[in-house]
Amino acid sequence: MAILSDIEIANQVEMKPIKDVVAPLGITEDQLTLYGNYKAKISAHELENLKDKEDGKLILVTAITPTPAGEGKTTTSVGLADAFTKLNKKAMIALREPSLGPVFGVKGGAAGGGHAQVVPMEDINLHFTGDFHAIGAANNLLAALIDNHIHHGNALQIDSRNITWKRVVDMNDRQLRHIVNGLQGRVNGVPREDGYDITVASEIMAVLCLANDPDDLKVKLGEMIIGYNFSGDPVTAKDLKAEGALAALLKDAIHPNLVQTLEHTPAIIHGGPFANIAHGCNSVIATKLALKYADYAITEAGFGADLGAEKFIDIKCRLGNLKPDAVVLVATIRALKMHGGVPKKELEPENVEAVVAGLTNLDKHIANIQDVYGMPVVVAINKFPLDTDAELKAVEEACKERGVEVVLSDVWANGGAGGVELAEKVIELADKPNNFQFVYDEEDSIEEKLNKIVQKVYGGKGVEIVPAARKQLKKLEELGYGNLPICMAKTQYSFSDDQTKVGAPKDFTVTIRNLKVSKGAGFIVALTGAVMTMPGLPKSPASERIDIDSDGNITGLF
Ligand code: ADP
Ligand code: MG
Repeated sequence: MAILSDIEIANQVEMKPIKDVVAPLGITEDQLTLYGNYKAKISAHELENLKDKEDGKLILVTAITPTPAGEGKTTTSVGLADAFTKLNKKAMIALREPSLGPVFGVKGGAAGGGHAQVVPMEDINLHFTGDFHAIGAANNLLAALIDNHIHHGNALQIDSRNITWKRVVDMNDRQLRHIVNGLQGRVNGVPREDGYDITVASEIMAVLCLANDPDDLKVKLGEMIIGYNFSGDPVTAKDLKAEGALAALLKDAIHPNLVQTLEHTPAIIHGGPFANIAHGCNSVIATKLALKYADYAITEAGFGADLGAEKFIDIKCRLGNLKPDAVVLVATIRALKMHGGVPKKELEPENVEAVVAGLTNLDKHIANIQDVYGMPVVVAINKFPLDTDAELKAVEEACKERGVEVVLSDVWANGGAGGVELAEKVIELADKPNNFQFVYDEEDSIEEKLNKIVQKVYGGKGVEIVPAARKQLKKLEELGYGNLPICMAKTQYSFSDDQTKVGAPKDFTVTIRNLKVSKGAGFIVALTGAVMTMPGLPKSPASERIDIDSDGNITGLF
């Protein structure tokens, strides 16, 4: 039998009206803003109404260092939630919204896969409720205000050589990484070097995801630093009187989106920072709402546990006052083979030896979760169609030898039924006490924080800070931002900042190329190695295979 594509599977399932999906959580129709029958927004203000209600358990889904295709965190999160539903537990997922960049690039959408998806997947993967467009518009309004201010006399004395605010677009478009604009004389602006980031890397995305409520959103928007004046002092969005208009543009985007899984478990999908170049977690508001409505709130942090999970803990939990109860670490045979040294094009044939050699990567992530983050972990082996019994057994046995909980997860093929064993294990782990802790303290200097992340989480020797970044570091500490958490921007393909170093590399240093404060979001972004905040498309982008017929049926989304 031919394997159906994600969108074919999704189209076979009849969705329930979203109001019926969320009714068991106690959400009534008048609390919803409906976007058709199957999507709705729920007000962020509901958190206030629910403040006396006890929180459910918070389950973090993370993964080993991934291949470019992704290892199935979203798929596992969705299947796990459906398994909870099967066990008659109230569960809710809180996930990120997909970005159009990867949808048309290599990775595809971010709505799960196989029989573990959130739907309507074509809506979720394309525009959804428009949040990203609103975020892009707000970002670019501020960019326009900056240049307009300079054009009209520059009362704030903004140094156009020291503007840190970039324009954004939700596409992989390397052509826009570095541009010069304002050309063609006086009436057409002031020439300067500029550049675009992808929308998911923007500070506004981070601010939306870390805001506690709509008022807090506006305060944080005002605090965003757009660059520096000729005396070297920061200039903020508030100085440009922008925060009111920015908050107005985000009036709907700040409220979480409700959809359902293929098995009708309620899902919140809200906010979408990438985990390599941004902090990689859905909104604090969404996670907190899920904790209020459900007994088990399942949330995903992007890429491997060195990136998304570290930032989930050190940024999202720290700033949002959250505490996880258990961690699911997704591992795949294909990624283990890659870490065992097999080239990406040869990951399909059976190769037990390579799987075993690749366990170094899994081991390091397990050690990080248990010893550095202080959390109980279960390894979920995400079963792929071509995985052989010998390969799967090798991983299970290795985990058992090490005394680590391990479960075979078959949610891609079987939906919730394929995740029941995983859900039972998660329930058990979430009831255990844990030693949840941050990787570094706020009081540590910026350099100490960077070194702690590299030494404790990545397994490297420490950081090497290039002279320009060293200057930025001094300046940020002088300005009093030294106590902010760090958002590492690093390749997702290695513990190190060199994407070719698979497995668990040792004795490496991580190069810090640039340090920038995101004062509104509340962290310092450290750019490492060659990581870029605007991705590019591959030679044969997914867009070449995406189509729509005259009835509006879409194909090629995955
Ligand atoms: P992540 O969230 O970790 O990036 P996803 O859940 O988005 O990963 O999965 C990445 C891709 O792999 C998706 O296209 C998904 O359909 C596919 N996939 C995930 N799990 C499986 C599986 N068990 N078998 C086959 N394909 C899978
Ligand atoms: Mg995902």
